[in-house]
Amino acid sequence: MSLAGKTALITGANRGIGRAVALAMAEKGALVALGSRRPEAAETVREEIEKRGGQAFVVALDVGSTASCSEAVDQVVGRTGRLDILVNNAGITRDSVLLRLSEEDWDQVLDTNLKGVYRCSRAALRPMLKARSGVIINISSIVGLIGNPGQVNYAAAKAGVIGFTKSLAREVASRQIRVNAVAPGFIDTDMTGSLSEEQQKALAARIPLGRTGKPEEVAAAVCFLAGDEASYITGQVIVVDGGLAM
Ligand code: NDP
Repeated sequence: MSLAGKTALITGANRGIGRAVALAMAEKGALVALGSRRPEAAETVREEIEKRGGQAFVVALDVGSTASCSEAVDQVVGRTGRLDILVNNAGITRDSVLLRLSEEDWDQVLDTNLKGVYRCSRAALRPMLKARSGVIINISSIVGLIGNPGQVNYAAAKAGVIGFTKSLAREVASRQIRVNAVAPGFIDTDMTGSLSEEQQKALAARIPLGRTGKPEEVAAAVCFLAGDEASYITGQVIVVDGGLAM
C-alpha cells in the first residue's frame, strides 16, 4: 500500500488521531501538510516524521475560520502543486446533558466539528475539481450513529458529518473525487483521557474486543480509504470501534 507522490492535508495534526494519521501517511510515502491552529505544537510531529525518513511541513489552520482554511489549502497547493487527500480530523467536545448545555457549547461544537468540515472541504475541492481527482476523509464518531448521553451537541455534529459525507460523495463522484468517513469508538487520546480508571474499565467491558482503541488503529483505516486500494469506495462510513456499535 503506497501513498507515494500524494500530498495530504490533515486538520488537527498536532496530537491524537490526527498525529497518528500524519505519521502513518508519511510512512506510506505521502508528503504531509500538518494543519494546526498551534503550528509550534505541530513542529514536533514534523520532526518525528522527518526522523523516520518521511516528508512533512506545518500549515497554520484553524477550522473555525473560513479564511484560515482557504489560506491553508492555498499554501499547500502553492508549495506542492497539488492536494490529493484532505483528512477532516479536528474536533472538540463540550459535554453536558441537554438541560444544562449552554448555547455557546452547542455552537462551538457544531462550528468546529461540522462547519469546520464544510469550510475545509469547500477550500480543498477547488484544486481537487481542477485535477479531477482527490480523496476527502472525515472523522466522525460512533456517537453520531448510536448517540451518547451528555453529548447531544457532539452527536448532532458527528451525525451531520455522515450526512455531509454521503451528500458530497454523490456531488463529486463524477469528477473522480471520493468522500468517505471513519467513525471511531473509544480511542486512547487526550479527548478520552479525562475519564477515570474506573470509567475506562467499565467502558472496556462494553467493547466486544475488550479494550479501547489506539490512534494508530484509526489511522490504518484512514490510510486505506486514502489509497488507490479504495478506488471504488465512496460515500461510506468505516466504523473502528472494537465492535461496540455493531
Ligand atoms: P484530541 O483532543 O486529542 O485532538 C483534537 C485535535 O483537534 C487537536 O489537534 C486540536 O488542536 C484540534 N482542533 C480542535 N479545534 C480545532 C480548530 N478550531 N482548528 C484546528 N484544529 C483544532 O482528539 P482526538 O485525536 O481523540 O480526536 C480527533 C478526531 O477524532 C475528532 O474529530 C474527534 O471528535 C474524533 N473522535 C475521537 C474519538 C476518541 O475516542 N478519541 C472517538 C471518535 C471520534 P489543539 O491541540 O490546538 O487543541
